[in-house]
Amino acid sequence: MGILTGEEGDPVALENGVARGPVVLVCEHASRLLPKALGTLGLTEEALESHIAWDPGALAVSRLMAQSLDATLVFQRFSRLVYDCNRPPESPAAMPEKSEVFAVPGNAGLDQAARDARTQALYLPFRDRLSGLVKSRIAEGRAPVIVTMHSFTPVYFGKPRAVEIGILHDADTRLADAMLAAAGSAGPFDIRRNEPYGPEDGVTHTLREHGLANGLANVMIEVRNDLVKDEAGQRVVADYLAGLLKKSLSAIQ
Ligand SMILES: [Zn+2]
Repeated sequence: MGILTGEEGDPVALENGVARGPVVLVCEHASRLLPKALGTLGLTEEALESHIAWDPGALAVSRLMAQSLDATLVFQRFSRLVYDCNRPPESPAAMPEKSEVFAVPGNAGLDQAARDARTQALYLPFRDRLSGLVKSRIAEGRAPVIVTMHSFTPVYFGKPRAVEIGILHDADTRLADAMLAAAGSAGPFDIRRNEPYGPEDGVTHTLREHGLANGLANVMIEVRNDLVKDEAGQRVVADYLAGLLKKSLSAIQ
């Protein structure tokens, strides 16, 4: 059974495809849009607007960074609740039955056919578009740098989080090390390594699949979403991160 109708369009969006800069920005959790065929997944409007459905502010910040860095941006147009593109198909978290404090009724007890349908509708086109872009850049002799952009909730399971920006990495620490060194300790944000999540939480799937597998420098950036809830905040964070990336990229080249 198909998940998306033709009029819902391509699940993957690619912006600034002719960019000249080395960075490819990736936003797996850009949108809270649900395919019409799946209704509300049994969730309330409150849950569907919350961080469990998407990463609020992440796409806006990514678009601003794509401009400053002259970078190509690839993002998923549908909600992570349907398929979390930062997880492989075999992971239970790819189609979570529970997300933080919310049970997701529409994801309960999915059989293999339903899981395969979501994987084919959302994950495979996303993975293939990104890997196609990466391969063509490598073939052109300009190996890209993979930067995935996320936001996180300031309060998780009732606990406030102090960290404002997380610089996350898996086995390849080059770019994360350079960014943390460039950020120093006197910057405008509370910026930390592998917080509020790290590779042990399974959040580095995209980095591994597209960065590590190709030997490309890569990093995942997590921004606390209260900092990017309006345009002014998005601009401040995007300018800061674009500056940090420029400095760090010249340091590791
Ligand atoms: Zn995210």
